[in-house]
Amino acid sequence: MNSFTYSRTDAVDTAVRERASEHTAKFIAGGTNLIDLMKENVEHPTHLIDITRLPLATISENVNGGLRLGALVTNADTAYNEQVIERYPLLSQTILAGASPQLRNMATDGGNLLQRTRCYYFYDTATPCNKREPGSGCSAINGYNRIHAILGTSDQCIATHPSDMCVALAALEAEVRVKGPNGERTIPFAEFHRLPGDTPEIDNTLEPDELITAIDLPAKGFPDYFAYLKLRDRASYAFALVSVAAALEMDGDTITTARIALGGVAHKPWRKPEAETALVGKPATKENFQAAADILLAGAQGFGHNTFKIELAKRAIVRALGQAAKLEPTE
Ligand SMILES: Cc1cc2nc3c(=O)[nH]c(=O)nc-3n(C[C@H](O)[C@H](O)[C@H](O)COP(=O)(O)OP(=O)(O)OC[C@H]3O[C@@H](n4cnc5c(N)ncnc54)[C@H](O)[C@@H]3O)c2cc1C
Ligand code: SF4
Repeated sequence: MNSFTYSRTDAVDTAVRERASEHTAKFIAGGTNLIDLMKENVEHPTHLIDITRLPLATISENVNGGLRLGALVTNADTAYNEQVIERYPLLSQTILAGASPQLRNMATDGGNLLQRTRCYYFYDTATPCNKREPGSGCSAINGYNRIHAILGTSDQCIATHPSDMCVALAALEAEVRVKGPNGERTIPFAEFHRLPGDTPEIDNTLEPDELITAIDLPAKGFPDYFAYLKLRDRASYAFALVSVAAALEMDGDTITTARIALGGVAHKPWRKPEAETALVGKPATKENFQAAADILLAGAQGFGHNTFKIELAKRAIVRALGQAAKLEPTE
């Protein structure tokens, strides 16, 4: 690990100012991802600004009729919050599908959005990786790519975003509130993470000197018809090969609103509005779910070891929608 200096503040403005004044500094929250990356010499900040004492660790009612999750609320406190369980059970379920109880006690909601890919080559500094070292090449495209993306890839990078929580936040159409030296702004969740393109080193649209202060959940939480299906190599403590967050509103057997977001298949949670529109006004049937799955996976490309994900994702979508519509049991 490289040497670094450390400071801690309880004021948001001070944290933002400190970050803006040193471009090689980083915020540290729960440290569950950043410390690993520093130990592996993937990240080497010269200064760490500990933000765990900032007053951003509460869940409150928002003026939009939804809930505001402070960026420093832990994943555990979010998943077990009574209001979240009652109004956004999909979010609670996705968080509990991730990591382990110990990690969720440390990991923060802001940090979860910014966790980096689990591509093996990204962690292995002996191998080329455009995300870690722009211009060096991508070891995964012709390498072992079982966990890699099948949608939205580029010839520079085929990494996935590993978060479970973000898949629900995409389906719920949350917003990310951020503060930087030039003030505050709100980023719609669909625009927060980005595809790799020619600059895979950039994971999201947050400016380097901006702090996430909160995540705003809209009033609509889909508490009645929802499912999170996470397919992985072990039943716990493993990242998703493919995951599906499905949220529906129903009038009898007819779907009136549909949201579907996929995890484990792209550099960001994957949504296709056309797939959701195709379900509206239709009965909840396997055939209609299959048609939505085909739209979501249109253009999917496998790279050898991960080609199985295309069929797996289609089947997972059909199953998750069936669970959300209560046509089949959740396991
Ligand atoms: C063994 C293991 C298994 C895991 N399994 C899963 C899983 O199955 N599913 C899943 O979703 N996740 C999983 N995780 C990831 C875990 O959820 C993340 O590491 C965690 O959410 C990151 O939060 P943190 O507060 O610890 O972030 P940190 O490690 O403190 O920070 C991560 C990054 O975010 C930045 N940052 C943090 N907070 C802010 C902020 N408010 N504003 C701006 N920048 C900020 C930091 O500078 C850093 O770059 C796993 C992690 C481990 C170690
Ligand atoms: S997929 Fe992306 S993160 Fe993985 S080796 Fe290629 S460039 Fe690096």
